[in-house]
Amino acid sequence: MPNPCIIALDLEGVLSPEIWISVAERTKIDALRLTTRDISNYDELMLHRLKILDEQGIKLPDIQNVIENMPLLEGAKEFLNELRSIYQVIILSDTFAEFANPIMKKLGYPTLFCHNLETKDDKITGYKLRQKNQKQHAVEAFKSLKFSVFAAGDSYNDIEMLKAADKACLFCAPDTVKKEFPQFRAVETYKDLMSEILKFA
Ligand SMILES: [Mg+2]
Repeated sequence: MPNPCIIALDLEGVLSPEIWISVAERTKIDALRLTTRDISNYDELMLHRLKILDEQGIKLPDIQNVIENMPLLEGAKEFLNELRSIYQVIILSDTFAEFANPIMKKLGYPTLFCHNLETKDDKITGYKLRQKNQKQHAVEAFKSLKFSVFAAGDSYNDIEMLKAADKACLFCAPDTVKKEFPQFRAVETYKDLMSEILKFA
C-alpha cells in the first residue's frame, strides 16, 4: 500500500492575500509592500519591515485590525474544505501566530506551523523563528514518518519546501519565480491545483 499523503500549503498568496501588502495599502506606506517575492533573504526583509513600523509608530493591534478585515482569496475556503475532506492538510507559513489567527478563523482553523512575534506594550520589537527553514524541515519530517508530501507555494520562501516534497506546484507565482524554477509546474487556479494533487495522490 502506498504511503498516505500530506498536502503542505503556503498561506499568503495561496489561501490569503499577502498580509504586508494589505498593511501597506491600508497605511499607505509603500516601503511595506516588499515581500519574499522581492527580497529573498527573510531576515533582511523582516528587519526592513520592523524598522518602518517603528519609524511610523505602527503597533501590533493596527496590523491585526488590517488582517481582521482582509478577505481570503476567492474560493480559498471552499478549496481548502474540499482538500481537507480527502487529505491531511498542513499550512506551512513564515507568518506569525499573532497575525495568522484571524485568517485561521476564516479558514476553519486548519493546522498551521508558523513563527512568533516579540512584543512590548503592543510594539513589535522582534520576531522568533520557530525553526530556520521550517517549511523544508517539516516536509522532510513528514517524509521520515512515511507520508508522501505534495507541496504548493507561490514564492521564494517556498522553494526549499517544494524541492523537499515528493511532488510540488507553484500556485499563482510571479513570473520571476516561475522563470527561475521551471522544474515546478505552475498553476493559476484552485481547480488546476486540485487536479495536480489528485493526479499525485
Ligand atoms: Mg506565499
